Amino acid sequence: MIEAVEHIAGMAPYTLADKGAPDSISLAENESAFPPSELAISAAVGAASAAQNYPDPDWTEIRNAIAEVHNIPSSGILCGAGSMELIGASVRAFCGPHDEVIGSEFGYLFVMTAVAQVNARFVQAPEENFHVSVDALLDRVTPATKLVFVCNPGNPTGTRIHNAEVCRLRMELPGDVLLVVDQAYAEFDDQEHQSVFDLVVAGRTVITRTFSKAYGLAGARVGWGYFPPDIAREVKKLLNPNNISGVSQTMAAAAMRDQDWMKQVVTKTAAWRDDFRQRLSDAGYFIPRSHSNFVLIQFATVDEAQLADRELRSEGLILRSMGGYGLPNCLRATIGDQAAMDRAAGVLITLKGAKS
Ligand SMILES: *Cc1c(COP(=O)(O)O)cnc(C)c1O
Repeated sequence: MIEAVEHIAGMAPYTLADKGAPDSISLAENESAFPPSELAISAAVGAASAAQNYPDPDWTEIRNAIAEVHNIPSSGILCGAGSMELIGASVRAFCGPHDEVIGSEFGYLFVMTAVAQVNARFVQAPEENFHVSVDALLDRVTPATKLVFVCNPGNPTGTRIHNAEVCRLRMELPGDVLLVVDQAYAEFDDQEHQSVFDLVVAGRTVITRTFSKAYGLAGARVGWGYFPPDIAREVKKLLNPNNISGVSQTMAAAAMRDQDWMKQVVTKTAAWRDDFRQRLSDAGYFIPRSHSNFVLIQFATVDEAQLADRELRSEGLILRSMGGYGLPNCLRATIGDQAAMDRAAGVLITLKGAKS
């Protein structure tokens, strides 16, 4: 019999959201409600006709575009097939068997998978009212801690902590602990981000970002990160060479250069989000204030959440169940277009009305 390595045989596969039947509307994966920039789409056509060649292994066009927009040196940037690849490679580079990785209670589930892949131990720090608690993260540091992972704004909560708190976390963490700040939704968060970028310059901190959300390129699989040089050198060894297709690289570079489109997407999405949240709050649901392209809806009971999920599905609307995050009384709704949000709000408001 051919047996997998013990810790791989023992681990559960990462489960993606269930998207429902092909004709249903998925509000389950935090994809953009808008298509990518027209400039990215037309650039893809040109890139497709050069697909006989391997892509640029150093992602030069994307890195130059990011460097210009974010005013950071392109030498500190690595790109991955989604930011998931960069998060996974960062864990593999710095954590081994029995090392500890600390993450927040409702943090990104994929990190647990990445930690299991290297047979390290995931340690969860509780949140306070669906917000990351820096003190709780610091409390769990031990000599075995190698990496602390913070998602800000958080998924699935949508909440954010102030970047001054992220800076305080860095200040109070031991110098030999790598801090990874997952900013997959930072484009939706209007606070200043310079202070966290400055942490990277000081060393020992990594920022990851993605083209999958605000830039509407989830299907192109492009993420990027800003790394100190010594960290980048090790992480890069673990990325597959030629990890991002030429078409995807061209699209991502063009999308980054079209900041106007991205900002319009963010503004419109935020308006739909705040309207959806207001209507559901008025109907009696609790929804933490979101700084992302989704909201977390809390129901009075697990039964009520399951009933809502069934009702929404029967209308062809698929939200993300939160049992895997330890929140079986919640559903997460990606902000889709106005028509989809109207339908979802209609179902949920009717349910509340029937209860009271
Ligand atoms: C969507 C998401 C990502 C990005 O995933 P990609 O691999 O870049 O598509 C990273 N972190 C969180 C928390 C996310 O929700």
